[in-house]
Amino acid sequence: MPTEFPGLKPSDLPIPADFPIPGRADAAVVGAGVIGLCVAYELMKDGREVVVVDQGPIVGGAAAGSAGFITPSHVIPIAAPGVPRGVVRGMLRRTGPVTARPSLDPAYLGWIFRFLRSCTSRTAEAGAAALAALGFLSADLMEHLITEEGIDCCYRRDGLLHVYGDERVLAAAKHEAAEMERCGVAVEMLGHDEIREVEPALGDEVIGGFLCPNDAGLDPAMFLSSLASLLAGRGVRFAPHTRLLGFDSASDAVENLITSRGNLAVDRVVVAAGARSPEVASHLGNRLPIQGGKGYNVTVAAPRLGPRNNILIGDRWAALNPMGDRLRMTGWLELGRLDTAPSLKRLEHIESNVRSRVRLDPELTVLERWAGVRPITPDGLPVIGPAPGWRNVIYATGHGKLGLSLGPVTGRLVTQMAGGRSVDLDPAPFSPARFS
Ligand SMILES: Cc1cc2nc3c(=O)[nH]c(=O)nc-3n(C[C@H](O)[C@H](O)[C@H](O)COP(=O)(O)OP(=O)(O)OC[C@H]3O[C@@H](n4cnc5c(N)ncnc54)[C@H](O)[C@@H]3O)c2cc1C
Repeated sequence: MPTEFPGLKPSDLPIPADFPIPGRADAAVVGAGVIGLCVAYELMKDGREVVVVDQGPIVGGAAAGSAGFITPSHVIPIAAPGVPRGVVRGMLRRTGPVTARPSLDPAYLGWIFRFLRSCTSRTAEAGAAALAALGFLSADLMEHLITEEGIDCCYRRDGLLHVYGDERVLAAAKHEAAEMERCGVAVEMLGHDEIREVEPALGDEVIGGFLCPNDAGLDPAMFLSSLASLLAGRGVRFAPHTRLLGFDSASDAVENLITSRGNLAVDRVVVAAGARSPEVASHLGNRLPIQGGKGYNVTVAAPRLGPRNNILIGDRWAALNPMGDRLRMTGWLELGRLDTAPSLKRLEHIESNVRSRVRLDPELTVLERWAGVRPITPDGLPVIGPAPGWRNVIYATGHGKLGLSLGPVTGRLVTQMAGGRSVDLDPAPFSPARFS
């Protein structure tokens, strides 16, 4: 099944496929996903010579096929009280949204143990405050980046509509919305009739929901390909199809990246390898508890009957993003999976979940079927900060379901850290050392 992004072909970027790996760089970024590109953007603006290395094509990471939401409203970490019960209930009913791979792998079991330990009110509240600080700043930086650089990507900051067709789930969501408001998120509660005024395409089953007016949506593949082209045009060098195999180091500093296409001498390294970051970190003797969370999208030609808003179907955990002449539907989180093979069964399930809450044309023209992997930490917070034991390596990973939203702020923080300057917000909650 295709995993390509309409409108984007890596070969369209001004980066030759046989680009020779440069001999040295001020800063090497491992990973050309949304985090790697946002880090490269800020480092480039800070005057660094940057090389971005990726084992695949540029813009081949998980964000390109994501739902495309910029969600400063998503402040409740995935590790929160009540989450384990909801996950087990969904798994037993086989309706999703989450599945967990059965495994006795110690790293996987350790992750689940840490996750369960993080599902307390105290940890979730601290996590929510940290995510709010990160998300609010990032949403503004994203808007600034898109307008300042003239990035054409169907960006619109007109909110994210949460809709529900189940009384019990809606009641729980109202508590969650109150928590979000306590963290400073703007929330507009909507009853049965009001929500239909906002979104006429909702089906009869929808009983209410809420709007987060400060959230935004964009076409992520368009955003990322434009950003990559902009970077290439301003001197950032890319080494696609170049796999990081290890590091050459002297005492507490990395001196060379060892890659499948030769060595690269570096002053500084940023690891932004998404769900594969633990593998990269293992070459540095660090353990990052990050598990893959596989998700799917099916993208169709914009139907005649369909939504005009960005929608999250809260009781079915499916999302809809009308991106110009296309409509993207996303869903599922399969914990412990790193492969990106799309599953027809899962994709059909997403479509039927969407149809149970939103009216769509009976026939849809499928343009893309895709799967990608979120890098998920057990406490639901990203990992942004110096690698323990290394003075010139920074981790920028573990953004879970928020990588697109938190890319710009991550780039900003990493660049401030790399320059030895004070950072815009307290980085302690995101420190890699919290897992040591
Ligand atoms: C279905 C779905 C919907 C989503 N919706 C949203 C959304 O609406 N909003 C939002 O904010 N987030 C969303 N996300 C989450 C978001 O996509 C991720 O958080 C984000 O992509 C993580 O970015 P990253 O750059 O860390 O990792 P990735 O995008 O995975 O990029 C990592 C890169 O590192 C490279 N790499 C790995 N190992 C090596 C190595 N050894 N050598 C060289 N290169 C290497 C990989 O090839 C890859 O290109 C969604 C995710 C999914 C799956």
